[in-house]
Amino acid sequence: MRALIVVDVQNDFCPGGALAVPDGDAVVEAVNRMASDAPFVVATRDWHPPGHGSFAEQGGPWPAHCVQGTPGAELHPGIDATQIDAIVDKGQAAETEGYSGFEGTELERLLREHGVDAVDIAGLALDYCVKATALDAKRAGLDVTVHRDATRAVEVSPGDAERAVEELRAAGVEVVD
Ligand SMILES: [Zn+2]
Repeated sequence: MRALIVVDVQNDFCPGGALAVPDGDAVVEAVNRMASDAPFVVATRDWHPPGHGSFAEQGGPWPAHCVQGTPGAELHPGIDATQIDAIVDKGQAAETEGYSGFEGTELERLLREHGVDAVDIAGLALDYCVKATALDAKRAGLDVTVHRDATRAVEVSPGDAERAVEELRAAGVEVVD
């Protein structure tokens, strides 16, 4: 049983958002196409309380983003919500970064309940939450494939996307174009 994990395709990570990933909304079409073929689709949302530890105001690395209940935290309106079977909210604990969809969430239990043994991963951003989610999926014993055409990177430092791909491949994650 395969599942698609759509990581954090939220307004704040798309152009115009608080922490926009360059070209982030370009993943929407690919995500919808993949979701229409997938038997089970889980979307994660970065879902931070106000004053989350990852925010610059708290000394963290990022501007405030994806605050629970705000428009910026909603899934991009182009995502076909009718194809999403479950939404998993992450990053709710104030002290943890919450990059991975598996960190402090019910995602692993949800996948096991549905007999999932392989996951396709798409979404934002390749060098942070997609990478962390893929590595945790691999650690959970799943077959993991990351789809590059359905993800975009932040690239705080040039080359971060390629380094993320190398790290994923070294961990046994398949990365396809
Ligand atoms: Zn975040």
